[in-house]
Amino acid sequence: MERLIFEYSEPGRRAIGLPLCDEQMERDPRLNRHVDDRLTPLPEVSEQDVMRHYVSLSTLNYHVDKGMYPLGSCTMKYNPKVNETVARLEGFSHVHPYSADEDIQGLLALMFDLEKELKVITGMDKFTFQPSAGAQGELAGIKIFRKYFDLKGEKRTKIIVPDSAHGTNPATSAMAGFDVITIPSNRQGGVDLSALEEAMTEEVAGLMLTNPNTLGLFDKNILKIAAIVHEKGGLLYYDGANLNACMGLSRPGDMGFDIVHLNLHKTFSTPHGGGGPGSGPIGVKEHLKAFLPVPVVEKKGRRYYLDYDLEKSIGKLHGFFGNIGVVVKAYVYVKKLGTLGLREASRMACLNANYLQKKLRKKYHLEYDRLCKHEFVLSGAKFKKYGVRTLDIAKRMLDYGVHAPTVYFPLIVDEALMIEPTETESKQTLDRFVDIMTAIAEEARKNPDLLHEAPLTTPVSRLDEAAAVKEPDLVYKGDL
Ligand SMILES: *Cc1c(COP(=O)(O)O)cnc(C)c1O
Repeated sequence: MERLIFEYSEPGRRAIGLPLCDEQMERDPRLNRHVDDRLTPLPEVSEQDVMRHYVSLSTLNYHVDKGMYPLGSCTMKYNPKVNETVARLEGFSHVHPYSADEDIQGLLALMFDLEKELKVITGMDKFTFQPSAGAQGELAGIKIFRKYFDLKGEKRTKIIVPDSAHGTNPATSAMAGFDVITIPSNRQGGVDLSALEEAMTEEVAGLMLTNPNTLGLFDKNILKIAAIVHEKGGLLYYDGANLNACMGLSRPGDMGFDIVHLNLHKTFSTPHGGGGPGSGPIGVKEHLKAFLPVPVVEKKGRRYYLDYDLEKSIGKLHGFFGNIGVVVKAYVYVKKLGTLGLREASRMACLNANYLQKKLRKKYHLEYDRLCKHEFVLSGAKFKKYGVRTLDIAKRMLDYGVHAPTVYFPLIVDEALMIEPTETESKQTLDRFVDIMTAIAEEARKNPDLLHEAPLTTPVSRLDEAAAVKEPDLVYKGDL
């Protein structure tokens, strides 16, 4: 177990040997000691102490550089390290937020160019990079729904959300002041068309949907779904969190969606396990352009500029230009892969998911047994009879050195294990994952007590997860 860096401190030990300036020498001849006793002294440690301390800390937790991270819906993909270097270039990272457009033409060109790529990838007509994440993109999108109908003089108070949706969809609708109508999924895991038809009245502003959905299944009825919503004057919102399955293969714009958000930090690389920073740009069709949050990037002749002047804009969501570091990383990712590379990434993401699905469907239970896209949802329900729950299985996986998949989501699968391997994991890694899941299934039958105690090899075992979020007590108090 790693100690606090303060506990390594030895008087006089130093990591750097810069000479003090004359003035400092006069004030405090004691080298490297603090003058003011009221301040906590900085730890006095060598470069090796510092390096070993932080490397050791970085290995206590699990992360995508340590091993496979198959969280469904989150798309914990490989994040090329070169993106970090580019995002840190001074021309991007040192831009002053109040810079005149003339002084940041390069950055604006990058945003304009990435927008052009995203328009091609999604089939939408105009984007803004304002929202900080998918959830904020949803809020922006649903506020556009509201303003659109307000200006038309139509009073629509409801939004339809399928029961397989991510929790942010109904939460967003409620935050924007709409009542949520939940409709059930059909036997194939898609939207139940007759339930949709019944729910879709002229009081409904529209439908929020992701395709492929959270079961990893593509809804082939999407054009019929769009027609049902549009026929009643409603709008379609696309939750783009699953775009890793679609790049270069299918486009929400062609499916009939009016507004989409993308999670740049999922589909277009950026480490986001710690909860940010993210970027959730939204794109709209021509008829909703004027509603976008400001600013948007425009080009006149050879000059790029930020346009704050959108006639029906819902306003501002974020300081300045959005989370630009994430935008730069997405740009590098898109440019590096190109059209064919992006398509290949999505195909591989789907292939890897289907490989795992086929290998694991008998060992666990696969409620919706169809070809999947980039993710699939197993059920751990058959282990209930041994007193083992999905949570126990997930905890046990940590002992085998892999991160657990997403659990208990989507809500429509009992004891859900939602697995998304992503495109970059090798067959060897996937096979090892299958071996681990197989071994745990055996253990669940033969040694359920072991699973109740897992994880046994991590720095801490079972945490009170709700309390841990509210009171993050980072000082380890157990045995060293
Ligand atoms: C991640 C996710 C969201 C929310 O996106 P954030 O960027 O985390 O705010 C919405 N819907 C689905 C399906 C997701 O997986």
